[in-house]
Amino acid sequence: MRNAYVMTMDPRLGDIPGGSVHIRNGVIAAVGKDLKVGGATVIDGRNTIVMPGLIDTHWHMWTSYLKSMAGDKAEDGYFPLTTRYGQAMQPIDMYRGTRLAAAEAINAGITTVGDNCHNIRSHAYAVEDLRAIWESGLRCRWSYGPYRGMPADKRIDLGDLEGFHRYWSKYSSDGLISLGFMWTPVPTGAAERVKIAREEFETCRRLSIPMCAHWASKENTAPGEITALAEGKFLGKDLLLIHMLAASPAEMKMVAAGGSPISVSPGSELRIGYGSSKAAAFLDAGVNVSVSVDTVPLTGNANLFGVLKLLRNAENAKAYDELKMGARRALEMATINGARALGLENKVGSLTPGKRADVIAVRTDHLTMGVFTDPAHMLVEATEEADVDTVMVDGRLLKHHGSLTSLNVPQVMADAALTLADVGKRIQ
Ligand SMILES: [Zn+2]
Repeated sequence: MRNAYVMTMDPRLGDIPGGSVHIRNGVIAAVGKDLKVGGATVIDGRNTIVMPGLIDTHWHMWTSYLKSMAGDKAEDGYFPLTTRYGQAMQPIDMYRGTRLAAAEAINAGITTVGDNCHNIRSHAYAVEDLRAIWESGLRCRWSYGPYRGMPADKRIDLGDLEGFHRYWSKYSSDGLISLGFMWTPVPTGAAERVKIAREEFETCRRLSIPMCAHWASKENTAPGEITALAEGKFLGKDLLLIHMLAASPAEMKMVAAGGSPISVSPGSELRIGYGSSKAAAFLDAGVNVSVSVDTVPLTGNANLFGVLKLLRNAENAKAYDELKMGARRALEMATINGARALGLENKVGSLTPGKRADVIAVRTDHLTMGVFTDPAHMLVEATEEADVDTVMVDGRLLKHHGSLTSLNVPQVMADAALTLADVGKRIQ
């Protein structure tokens, strides 16, 4: 890529106006102004900002065929809706829903997804979900989860999880996809639930499977969930905590000391009424904060730039301060912080030579982007999916000149519509 405004997100390299990125065998070989590279295929970077691919750290990808469907009546709210549809799905529906999400991710410049697969009704459901991701070419932390409507006293199939772990090379797409676990039970309350939670947790620690957990999600809920995690010695770099809006200042310090990263998804959190982001306070407390799409039945789309805009604006509003959160601080959350949250900081998250080539180019000559002013501000405030011109994962082009190259978009959309109709019929 030549003659682009290169935003490396690496503090030692900074921004390089009129810069180039040299990619060789899936690796960033060099970044700089006048790179002399013979024989390379040249992608013209004029009128683009080239930056690291965006990193989403929490997304229930299978739900994407239910886009914008969370309704206005209690029975049609997000949880009853996804449970009703989730229970009536066949394995092929997981594939179609997740493939739609993968297409949206690539279109939006997301190169790594944190798929929280929470409708694993049997082994086949998991395999179909994974198939959609490996066909798409995305990088992914794929987290094995429960299924919609799973009773609270039921155990997740840890034998199936161990099976995936043992034979993971079959599913990893040459290392692009890594295995994680979506930890669900709260290790407080009824003794049986505490036992199940511990069993799941200890299995993952034994197998070195990183975990994620939706935690202290709603701002006005009873405090104490995070304290319970700290006291139970559950916190750690391998436990990514999602939402965390109920955190008190003291609990934020506990999370920082325990080393757990967090994932915030203001697009869904605001929409579902969980409250307002605490990202800035967590960052100030020294916690690694990343961002996520979560679920398009609530967010409507997968524009992670738009999520950053919501996040920053909400933080500034709460602080009554135009300057509370800078655009670059927001961009870090969707790049290097996301990489750290998924343990991928040595591979992706910045355009640092030696890292894998997960790179995107955003057009700055579209009407939506207007005149070229401050690139970080433009990315956070103005960028839409259609402005993402080029998307590369591991050196492979997945979107170029504004079109997806690894997926047939009309087919993906038609199949997702078919699933919506099929599952709908099974519910009636
Ligand atoms: Zn979620």
